Amino acid sequence: MTKPPLDILLCAPRGFCAGVVRAIDAVEKALAIHGAPVYVRHEIVHNKYVVENLKRKGAVFVRELDEVPDTQAPVIFSAHGVAKSVPEAAQARNLFAIDATCPLVTKVHREAQVHHKRGRHIILIGHAGHPEVIGTMGQLPDGAVTLVETVDDIARLQPADADNLAFVTQTTLSVDDTQDMVDALKARFPAIVGPHKEDICYATTNRQGAVKRVAPQVDAMIVVGSPNSSNSQRLREVAEREGCPLVRLILRAEDIDWSLFGSIRSLGITAGASAPEILVEEIIDAFAARYEVNVESVSTADESVFFPLPRELREQAAE
Ligand code: SF4
Repeated sequence: MTKPPLDILLCAPRGFCAGVVRAIDAVEKALAIHGAPVYVRHEIVHNKYVVENLKRKGAVFVRELDEVPDTQAPVIFSAHGVAKSVPEAAQARNLFAIDATCPLVTKVHREAQVHHKRGRHIILIGHAGHPEVIGTMGQLPDGAVTLVETVDDIARLQPADADNLAFVTQTTLSVDDTQDMVDALKARFPAIVGPHKEDICYATTNRQGAVKRVAPQVDAMIVVGSPNSSNSQRLREVAEREGCPLVRLILRAEDIDWSLFGSIRSLGITAGASAPEILVEEIIDAFAARYEVNVESVSTADESVFFPLPRELREQAAE
């Protein structure tokens, strides 16, 4: 039986960013140097496939530090960053901590610390409960940072000193939503200081840009990623807002609902910053089994960002 044709537009850039590559490399390098087990606090990056792979190699994932026994084995902090209390607790227990926080998240931590030193109250634009938000808020004493998630939250703010405010943002937000929120902050508090635009990282910005180009051209879009991945969820939202009639965030090919994707003529595919390319290939193969596929890459930005391994591992690798 002849297969129906399907044009697949692959968003570029998509998938792994420099911070995710570094975090995964950190776990693999720690396993190579120290052997198993290596403890990892929180999912190193938000992707079940990546986490399961590392588990098979000897990584042990824990939610909190107190689940780590007294050990000589390394304890790695995830790419999302941690509150200051976490490395302090590791040091108090003489644990060998390796910080795989993405340097672009660390940059936001530093901005917040500088604002605090200068006596400013900080408004953090982000999503409550996300590990990056917990980590950024945890850089400073309780009460120093106020989280806002919506423009309505900004309208409700009652700061003690409206002339002495600063803002920072989570790195994986929607570029457009965040711009609206920054505009609302500046309109309400003209003296507020912050980054030139926001703190959204290059990878988040570029992946959303590619989706904006592809989503209006296709019958359906698949975002490869985990439901708990903030940047993947934002890619899904961007595709929906661009008017794509069918958008799904899925982890693997086995999650494709063929009752929805069985009669399309064009498909866009992107992947969140924590989703490996092998899962994109798996999904293309699943479509190729049902359709005569024609795959084309749609590139909207070049990326050449690279972050070296965390300092603790560089020092050990050099020994
Ligand atoms: Fe770093 Fe951005 Fe990747 Fe997060 S999404 S790990 S901030 S580069």
